[in-house]
Amino acid sequence: MDKSAVVERLKEFGETRSGSDWSALDCATSRLVRRNPFAFLLAVAFDRGMPWQRAWRIPVEIDHAGCLDPARLASMDELDLMKLIDGLAVRPRYGSRQGAKTLSDAARLVCQRFGGDAGAIWNGASPAEVEKTLREIYGLGRGIASMATRILRDDFGCFKGQECQIDVKPDVHLVRVFRRVGFVKGDSANETIRVARRLNPEFPGQLDWPAWRIGQQWCHATEPDCAACPLIRVCARRI
Ligand code: SF4
Repeated sequence: MDKSAVVERLKEFGETRSGSDWSALDCATSRLVRRNPFAFLLAVAFDRGMPWQRAWRIPVEIDHAGCLDPARLASMDELDLMKLIDGLAVRPRYGSRQGAKTLSDAARLVCQRFGGDAGAIWNGASPAEVEKTLREIYGLGRGIASMATRILRDDFGCFKGQECQIDVKPDVHLVRVFRRVGFVKGDSANETIRVARRLNPEFPGQLDWPAWRIGQQWCHATEPDCAACPLIRVCARRI
């Protein structure tokens, strides 16, 4: 199996992404998250353990509650934040206590270190610096931080010329595809990140969206739809 052929095919498929994820969101979510950096920060901070489209809706619900203001959220205690979360139509997967910690950390980070402007976290910073900062927020791990920098690069024009610092997010779909095409043998997140760096050193994260999408749409855990998969001609099909 020619790994470079798989990489090239993934990159080609990645070119089809343009706007496809944003169109999967409802209009209000897409508009708010694109326009409001603090909403984007909360969308990625809550993007764990639930369908991403629902997680990204949470800032809209917070906005409807009149609380999408870092200063206001930073001034609220844990009980108030839990009450706010309990009253939302879409709530974080891991409950209001953990959600309150994430919300509090994000709001305080923005207010105390970035003058109330979430966009200042990434404007003029490197991907590595941004990932380090994002990971200070409760529940926001390495994979989500990499995903956030990749989206900031692809959709918000950040980090031009610094793409070598942006990794893949080794989620379950991406790791399954990496294993089946023959890039990795097991399920190790660290190995997956290392392999993506080796195979596409100028921009490892470029492999993220295409592999994730293929895992979601065709390379299912059971009964993968190889006949329709964009990788059919190059995949080792280690199923
Ligand atoms: S060809 Fe089949 S095994 Fe290979 S990535 Fe596509 S769906 Fe998965």
